[in-house]
Amino acid sequence: MKTVDLKKIRKAMEKQQDAKRYEHTLGVAYTATALAMKYGVSLKDAQLAGLLHDCAKCLSDKKKLSICEKHGLPVSEVEMRNPFLLHAKVGGFLARKEYLVQDEDIINAILYHTTGRPDMSTIEKIIFIADYIEPGRKEAPNLTQLRQMAFEDLDSTLIGILKDTLAYLEKKGGEMDPMTRNTYEYYCKESKEV
Ligand code: FE
Ligand code: FE
Repeated sequence: MKTVDLKKIRKAMEKQQDAKRYEHTLGVAYTATALAMKYGVSLKDAQLAGLLHDCAKCLSDKKKLSICEKHGLPVSEVEMRNPFLLHAKVGGFLARKEYLVQDEDIINAILYHTTGRPDMSTIEKIIFIADYIEPGRKEAPNLTQLRQMAFEDLDSTLIGILKDTLAYLEKKGGEMDPMTRNTYEYYCKESKEV
């Protein structure tokens, strides 16, 4: 099995992303690594998933759509109207094909980093959360509290982030991926059952 060289991936991201996005990428990678220490998952996997999670973010909408078309990735109507939503799906595809990631857990962490999904693995949760709380983020409400909470309990942090995300998207009035609400409802229900 070919092993992925983290340094090479980091260099590739530096080249491919604009400066602001690359800063964010590094922020997610080291936040994810710190969370991996706390929750006992592979530090290397967390770093790799963090580095690659936005690997398709700097591609044009046209490019993202053409990759989907060329490789038979399904595009929903919501995504067709809002191609920026596609960066996670295209990112997961590129992670596999271009950056030779074989671990499904890492691929899933990239695929679901914007919406989450019901029943996520620890690494999926870590990337979703790290994307939201990395030190470069400044605008979201409750960041101080969520950053602390992330190192205490992943599921309640997820619920907090999803709740704020839904409120933000509703206020903005744009279209959203229905998966965000599904994930929120799943984890709310789950937390009541414990
Ligand atoms: Fe993203
Ligand atoms: Fe991101």
